[in-house]
Amino acid sequence: MSTSPSRDFDAVVIGAGFSGLALLHHLREIGLKTLVVDGEDGIGGTWWVNRYPGVRTDSEFSYYSFSFSKEVREEWTWSQRYPSGPEVLEYLNFVADRLDLRKDIRLNTRVDSAVYDEDANLWTVNFADGSSVTTKYLISGMGVLSQAIYPDIPGIDTFQGEKYHTAHWPRTGVDLAGKKVGLIGLGASGIQIVPVIAPEVHEFFVFQRTPNFIVETTNEGVSTEEMQYVRENYDAIYEKAANHPFGVAMEPAEFSALEVSPEKRREIFESKWNEGGFHFANECFNDLATNHESSELAAEFIRSKIREIVKDPATADLLSPKTYSFNGKRVPTGHGYYNTFNLPHVQLIDTASEPITQITEKGVKVGDTEYELDVLIFATGFDAMTGTLTHIDIRGRGGRTLREKWQEDGLKSNLGINANGFPNFFMSLGPQTPYSNLVVPIQLGAQWLQRALKWAEENGIERFEATPESEEWWAAETERTGKATVMYSEGKKAKAWFLGENVPGKAEEFQVYMGGGQVYQEHCRRAEAEGYASFLAPAPVNA
Ligand code: NAP
Repeated sequence: MSTSPSRDFDAVVIGAGFSGLALLHHLREIGLKTLVVDGEDGIGGTWWVNRYPGVRTDSEFSYYSFSFSKEVREEWTWSQRYPSGPEVLEYLNFVADRLDLRKDIRLNTRVDSAVYDEDANLWTVNFADGSSVTTKYLISGMGVLSQAIYPDIPGIDTFQGEKYHTAHWPRTGVDLAGKKVGLIGLGASGIQIVPVIAPEVHEFFVFQRTPNFIVETTNEGVSTEEMQYVRENYDAIYEKAANHPFGVAMEPAEFSALEVSPEKRREIFESKWNEGGFHFANECFNDLATNHESSELAAEFIRSKIREIVKDPATADLLSPKTYSFNGKRVPTGHGYYNTFNLPHVQLIDTASEPITQITEKGVKVGDTEYELDVLIFATGFDAMTGTLTHIDIRGRGGRTLREKWQEDGLKSNLGINANGFPNFFMSLGPQTPYSNLVVPIQLGAQWLQRALKWAEENGIERFEATPESEEWWAAETERTGKATVMYSEGKKAKAWFLGENVPGKAEEFQVYMGGGQVYQEHCRRAEAEGYASFLAPAPVNA
């Protein structure tokens, strides 16, 4: 395939993280002249940006990597069961070097807008420095949790001490030794930072509005034998993850928490708690995500663990979620989180019963009590899934932005891959893609797109564009499957990001597909087998 003289590139991918690297490799393989751009000054995407102390994967090394490159599989060695952020970043740099990707990646190149030209069937991508390029295919690899948000608390800009968001942590690091530190936000980011910085700081005030169910784990080194086993069995491990609803290489549990005796249930919970991390949610019982009673039994088990670990009963009680049950929020993996609250200089402050009223010049005010701080950390999350896509102007047919489309029509896409009105614009991990260990849908998505675009180029198909019917179908499927899980009933109570509940004013819609990664892949394969008919909307007559 050769680039038409009328365009600069065949494909432009925004974002140089896992998605951007996989897409560049796969699109190059079919001869598309591809450029990856990223606004940051390093590759790695989420792993480049999120460099707060304690950042690491919640997925285990054995299935948190690509399977498509034999060279990378053979030559890369992981050192820990749950690799640290810096190690994942090193891995991504290794991938970029080993697959010779760097020459087609432009860093420090932030996209301001991208505009579709109907007549030329081209996208113009405009960068912050005023330059632009044209491309036939535009692909977002911008990540699902990239648009960081700050809480809407009065006085947030008045604080005179140091202020950081976990997603914008300075690359040079932050010296917290001997300081009075406050932290707002206890999702997967906040709970990772707590045990790591606690030993350094002088006083630590942890402001908690909603407690989380955290499954603690140990983090062993990876032995040579283990790494060798994973290398030799990579395909099987990857297939297992691809066939699992949440993209983890685990055997889904076969029976309900309600089918066994209380003694047997406790024994199973205990053994999977000891394995740690995602083993608990995925391997105990098959209905912790679908049956409220079972999810509540898991919740009660974790509450009992909190009581065992945390010595002060009042603190243990505060750390125990009571307003929603297990799986109502994305369950984080802990590395000594609960135990941190046994340290004498760590104070848990309940901001549910008495809210934060103000951030002042000196610190944080809860009710009438002002906590004076040297450093205030926000781990307050993201405008998930849609945020990055609606933050910049992506203008499709008729100049309509994605933001306008989703605000006016509701969240609509075909399989989270493409949206009607946006020809030849694709999303890696778009909204309505699986709630999963993300490396799996990233790789499978890049491979799906590779086959789709190869087919399009070979068959003279000029436009890929979701049909309106496919969008209606997928929105209904996403809602139907989502509402069949406790992520709906409990997620609403917990104000979970996967329902859009964490962003004031955002519509309540499933941001992700909860029907299972393996089911999602079946839908993608079907779309392909049907000759991509659901992606071949006829152009409007007046276009
Ligand atoms: P998050 O789960 O959305 O948590 C945000 C936290 O900020 C919540 O505790 C929330 O409290 C609090 N918050 C927000 N606004 C507040 C306000 N006005 N006042 C008080 N508290 C406020 O965000 P996150 O921790 O960054 O995690 C997001 C997702 O990123 C995770 O679910 C996960 O998918 C991913 N992630 C993954 C990893 C990993 O795999 N290792 C690590 C980090 C993040 P409420 O609950 O009360 O709203």
